[in-house]
Amino acid sequence: MKETEKRKPEVPERTNCNDINCPIHGALSLRGRTFSGKVIKKFHKRIVIEFERTVYVRKYERYAKMKTKIHARLPDCMSNEVNLGDYITVKECRPLSKLIHFAVTEKIKGVNEK
Ligand SMILES: [Zn+2]
Repeated sequence: MKETEKRKPEVPERTNCNDINCPIHGALSLRGRTFSGKVIKKFHKRIVIEFERTVYVRKYERYAKMKTKIHARLPDCMSNEVNLGDYITVKECRPLSKLIHFAVTEKIKGVNEK
């Protein structure tokens, strides 16, 4: 309990989180790749983020923009914090379902923040 208070003192709801798949309060361990992107969809305990990447096209010797979508687990304690349009970070975890193998770790900035 003291650990969580130290990490995010401004959000008291974080302490009463019963989510087993929460990376902070539950048993979910995070490892692997980390990505940041914009939240484009929000469901119950799941969000979808999108970000751009560049891919080299050899034929034209130029870079093309591609978009990647990632479904990520949204822990109970962060469900009020994260909204559509927010910029967040996700980290890879074990596959939680067919689509979800990432979990939300932090919110970088809100939709109305600069
Ligand atoms: Zn939690």
